[in-house]
Amino acid sequence: MCRMCDVKHESLKLDDRVFSCPNCGHTEDRDVHAAKNLAGAPEEICSRAGSVRN
Ligand SMILES: [Zn+2]
Repeated sequence: MCRMCDVKHESLKLDDRVFSCPNCGHTEDRDVHAAKNLAGAPEEICSRAGSVRN
């Protein structure tokens, strides 16, 4: 999901290193983009981390 315009892009490939939004034109390193998306949802991070440990 583009954190700039909140449009979801399912066409993004796992191999793509750079996230590119066809809607607003926002481009960013995919890993950085994902990290910033997760940073906006701390509760989701906690639940995921817990499920990994258990
Ligand atoms: Zn966008």
